[in-house]
Amino acid sequence: MSQKEIPYKIYLEEHEMPQSWYNVRADMKKKPAPLLNPGTLEPMKFEELQPVFCDELVRQELDDETPFIEIPEEIRNFYKMYRPSPLVRAYCLEKKLDTPAKIYYKFEGNNTSGSHKLNSAIAQAYYAKKQGLKGVTTETGAGQWGTALSMACSYFDLDCKVYMVKVSYEQKPFRREVMRTYGASVTPSPSETTEIGRKILQDHPGTTGSLGCAISEAVEVATGTEGYRYVLGSVLNQVLLHQSVIGLEAKAAMDKYGIKPDMIIGCAGGGSNLGGLIAPFMGEKLRGEADYQIIAVEPASCPSFTRGKYAYDFCDTGMVCPLAKMYTLGSGFIPSPNHAGGLRYHGMSSTLSELYDQGLMEARSVEQTEVFKAAEQFARVEGILPAPESSHAIRVAIDEALKCKENGEEKTILFGLTGTGYFDMVAYEKFHNGEMSDYIPTDEDLQVGFDGIPKIPGVQ
Ligand SMILES: *Cc1c(COP(=O)(O)O)cnc(C)c1O
Repeated sequence: MSQKEIPYKIYLEEHEMPQSWYNVRADMKKKPAPLLNPGTLEPMKFEELQPVFCDELVRQELDDETPFIEIPEEIRNFYKMYRPSPLVRAYCLEKKLDTPAKIYYKFEGNNTSGSHKLNSAIAQAYYAKKQGLKGVTTETGAGQWGTALSMACSYFDLDCKVYMVKVSYEQKPFRREVMRTYGASVTPSPSETTEIGRKILQDHPGTTGSLGCAISEAVEVATGTEGYRYVLGSVLNQVLLHQSVIGLEAKAAMDKYGIKPDMIIGCAGGGSNLGGLIAPFMGEKLRGEADYQIIAVEPASCPSFTRGKYAYDFCDTGMVCPLAKMYTLGSGFIPSPNHAGGLRYHGMSSTLSELYDQGLMEARSVEQTEVFKAAEQFARVEGILPAPESSHAIRVAIDEALKCKENGEEKTILFGLTGTGYFDMVAYEKFHNGEMSDYIPTDEDLQVGFDGIPKIPGVQ
């Protein structure tokens, strides 16, 4: 098909939208390592996860055999309000870069929460409601997850308690107010409202918080309050499963026009958007049906894949969660405060970690000033103001397109544009004022986090 026939935006018809999520673990011969009970060091059982998560979500978490899991009709109907998301051919960016590469991006910022997180938030809220729960608790860093969850909870009339990393709570008052508009209560973390919060404040007075602390607080409140469960916006298998809707739509749209990407690029915080975007492509790769180059992009200041250790580690600072085997910087790792670009979590999805360890995908780290340069370049030609997180993927997509120009290669690049950056203007402002610096942790800095990774007899 000639280039001209491919529209700027490829949408699917309603009946072409995915009816099921795809569980990539079903096609993995070597499965991701199971979550372990930190007390017994045995794989977590359904009954042990049940007090923390909704029943159906625990089933999804533990299921590494079923390839397709039907999307309940109520969720599909909600998806129809803002999906399919467009698959955009970046003609303007290609022209600006003067590259023979063909660039496509799947844009997930077309909903009020401004990111892909709503895809999983609505699913998790649905299962909580179906179970007859009163509400859910969660943590949020930059605020996208908390916003998405508060929207989903208000839709299903559930209470939503958000623990927001203190530095973001103070720096992003508008995010906080969006959550409250949707009826959520928002508490800066660490707080005096939980035992773990009080302990963290005592040990680290003046701390600006971290995702790991906020998770501990949210879990404590969920397990200690009747009719509540904890929900998480990234990292977990269930979240990657829900996010597979991104990849399934992208693949269906590309198949419609006979397009096959050579390279798939996504930013990686906890790994959910990337895991979702690559899912059906990785499935083909695992089954030996096709090959794709897959690149995870992370910040140089929080380099879990590129400099982390593949080990069982705690998912949270308070060490109340199960142990997960993942690429990790240690649960005590807190990225430098000058890091503005999101993607701050110390660990990485155990599914992506295993795929990376098996050499089925690559990872790159990029510095934040380079990320903001790419963000601005993209905004000026493609119109969308990208989230800093998403701009990590833009950086590498542009770098690869420029390589194609040098080598005269006509590669097809697909990247995930996970969200918009309207609430990140303080970071953009710093960049424009020349006040943004890059921070790359030294080996000694990282060692502090590594020292906190548990030593497990017989396991590591
Ligand atoms: C949360 C978020 C990310 C990173 O999370 P993943 O789980 O790694 O996908 C990326 N982009 C945006 C816009 C986000 O809100």
